[in-house]
Amino acid sequence: METDCIFCKIVKGEIPSTFLYENDNLVVFRDINPHAPVHLLIVPKRHIRSVNDLTEDDAKIVSEMIMTAKMMAEKESVSKSGYKLLFNVEKGGGQVIFHLHLHLIGGWKK
Ligand code: 5GP
Ligand code: ZN
Repeated sequence: METDCIFCKIVKGEIPSTFLYENDNLVVFRDINPHAPVHLLIVPKRHIRSVNDLTEDDAKIVSEMIMTAKMMAEKESVSKSGYKLLFNVEKGGGQVIFHLHLHLIGGWKK
């Protein structure tokens, strides 16, 4: 837990938000500023700054994030139409919240 981290506060319930999915390791909620009709964030509960900070020991949470994205795409009915999974990494990569998260973006009109 990082005291100044917005996503740690969301995970802890200190900032109210609606979780579309939650398990012991991660939560899923809608992006506050969606870039597409479906824009979800898959967020590990444990504070990890970015992809740069991942170690071999984090392989399980990363695969769990991707499998959860796949499951949420199904739930949000974008599996067939297709979607993007995106990690922004550090400032130059567009990351503004420095708590690891995977964007699931889709649902554009055909
Ligand atoms: P990044 O650019 O770091 O990969 O993406 C961070 C994302 O978090 C942005 O798309 C932004 O809209 C979203 N975001 C920032 N603050 C909040 C918040 O308080 N609640 C929610 N639901 N999303 C947030
Ligand atoms: Zn955090």
